[in-house]
Amino acid sequence: MTTVLVVEDDTALRRALTISIRSRGFDVLEVATGEAALVVVAAERPQLVVLDLGLPDIDGIAVLERVRTFSDVPVIVLTARDRQADKVRVLDAGADDYVTKPFDPEELLARLRAALRRRPTVVPTLVRAGDIEIDMVRRRVSRAGEVVHLTRTELELLENLVRNPGTLVTQAQLLREVWGEGYGTETNYLRVYIAQLRRKLGDDAANPRLILTEPGIGYRWIAGGGGSQD
Ligand code: CA
Repeated sequence: MTTVLVVEDDTALRRALTISIRSRGFDVLEVATGEAALVVVAAERPQLVVLDLGLPDIDGIAVLERVRTFSDVPVIVLTARDRQADKVRVLDAGADDYVTKPFDPEELLARLRAALRRRPTVVPTLVRAGDIEIDMVRRRVSRAGEVVHLTRTELELLENLVRNPGTLVTQAQLLREVWGEGYGTETNYLRVYIAQLRRKLGDDAANPRLILTEPGIGYRWIAGGGGSQD
């Protein structure tokens, strides 16, 4: 059975989370402090962690950073702080996703299922999304059977998004992955290249079916893993 650890000091919310996650057939462990969370992650090895940022002993981000020193368990952060900077910080600290309080339990459950599906990461060799076909091995992209000519930068951006289906990839992560270690704040590069990529793939920023912009935070490949392993 899949075990989910819920880390939340608000007792009523923790109980509500536990009940809703358990109702979907998951096994749930619950703790109220960061210290207890670290112990349980190490000892029980849950398959997913739902982590509140505001904890009484250790800040949620510090808990996440410590978890990442010994575990790559998917972590979904709960944050009451509706601030872009916090969202970027948690993603850069290694969270897989975040949900802002107050949240719809269905949204959390959907994120939870998506995070579980992503691990372990199996990169498909061929990704299909509508009339787009991305051959991850030969690094070729086609649209309705016609080759789409992408620059190296566009291709690398696309690969970084496609490798993480459904996942929010931050601007800083993309800049580091595609442009290199010294980059991280040049978000204007991303705006230009993502716009080019969208145009070539026939995607519409206002009504996206491939690449979703999370304003000020990053981008998400929303067309699914949709690939075959052959
Ligand atoms: Ca709290």
